[in-house]
Amino acid sequence: MKIVHTITDLRDQLAPFQRPAFVATMGNLHDGHIALVNQAKPLGDVMVASIFVNRLQFAPHEDFDTYPRTWEADCERLQAAGCDVLFAPRETDLYPEPQTYKVHPPAELADILEGHFRPGFFTGVSTVVMKLFSCVFAGKPSGAAMFGKKDYQQVMIIRRMVQQFALPIDIVPGETLRAADGLALSSRNGYLHALERAEAVQLSRALKALGEAARAQGLDKLEALEAQAMQVLSARGWTPDYLTVRRRADLLPPGTTGAAEPLVVLGAARLGTTRLIDNLEI
Ligand code: AMP
Repeated sequence: MKIVHTITDLRDQLAPFQRPAFVATMGNLHDGHIALVNQAKPLGDVMVASIFVNRLQFAPHEDFDTYPRTWEADCERLQAAGCDVLFAPRETDLYPEPQTYKVHPPAELADILEGHFRPGFFTGVSTVVMKLFSCVFAGKPSGAAMFGKKDYQQVMIIRRMVQQFALPIDIVPGETLRAADGLALSSRNGYLHALERAEAVQLSRALKALGEAARAQGLDKLEALEAQAMQVLSARGWTPDYLTVRRRADLLPPGTTGAAEPLVVLGAARLGTTRLIDNLEI
């Protein structure tokens, strides 16, 4: 595996190839990241992963400084997974001057759910992904990039961005990898101490219960069911931001008559100081 830090070195490495396959990460790699790499590999003629903790998508009070950085282990895991090129730009490589040109995704998609509780988050994400895409794919006839459904809203926003800017990149969603008890793998799970780790699975359980109740009792009861699901987590010591059933197509609340349309249950909640997110298609 070739490790490159600058955009020029990345482009030199990729020059012989026609169709990069790409997975963007913030490092602290777990099996979920590696599963994406394994699935992405056959989608192109060269496998590129990036590690970059993107300051633009962190609010000042969030965990940019303490975000886990595990460089050596990450390199070993990517190498073992058969990744061809690791792009690990320093901040000055990707943002040599303040990034004042930004990608602002539409409010109806980016200011709800995660975007409501993390204002500006999806502008930071969209901007860095657009820049990483430019580094990896510029001049290539086509490419593919995999994003995990764990970050459900993110996949939708990136997909629409690629569509609207007519980028020749296939955005391919990957299923969420979970621990044996059902907790979605996440770099932030490392923040949980033992008791919290045992409790953490309750988020996915609450999403499952909410999804089942919504399907069984009808969408006209949704508001009450969502409030009840949040209450269950609160009573266990969590601070939920949202637990909600939305349409998969646009993440808006379903109409009461739309029982047959594909839905997704999304949730975000804090356990101690750790904020976890998860979702489940129903
Ligand atoms: P991150 O390093 O958290 O920015 O994540 C990098 C990519 O890995 C994103 O596309 C995530 O959606 C994806 N990802 C994170 N957790 C998981 C998981 N448990 N299963 C599958 N993909 C994941």
